[in-house]
Amino acid sequence: MPMMLCSGAPCRSICGPVQEGLMPTDDNTQGYSLAELMIVLALIGVLVSIAVASYTLAINRARAATCAASRRTMTRSVEVYLAETGHYPADVNDLHYVVANWSSARKCPSGPALFYDSATHDVVCPVHGP
Ligand SMILES: [Zn+2]
Repeated sequence: MPMMLCSGAPCRSICGPVQEGLMPTDDNTQGYSLAELMIVLALIGVLVSIAVASYTLAINRARAATCAASRRTMTRSVEVYLAETGHYPADVNDLHYVVANWSSARKCPSGPALFYDSATHDVVCPVHGP
């Protein structure tokens, strides 16, 4: 026997005969379906992967900029060393007295230490180059 959702009260679209199997039950209103949860988890995964990629790119750019600043400092210290002594340094350790914050200025933020190429008189990073 068909059931009626409302009995005689004016309504727009839900009035009418409804079959018993289509009636909402309490089971459908207490949570999310597996498909809904999977869609939400997939969206969260996509957003997290975008955020991680963007963060990694920003970190790498910051490290490259810091390394370039350190190389400029070391290159200028080579020039200062040349002006003070009249010859180029034989080793990067000769710049120890010219460079302030020697231990931090000598290192690339990506890890390896900068080195001085005595043939070209350039300060070179093994990761980021000259
Ligand atoms: Zn570097």
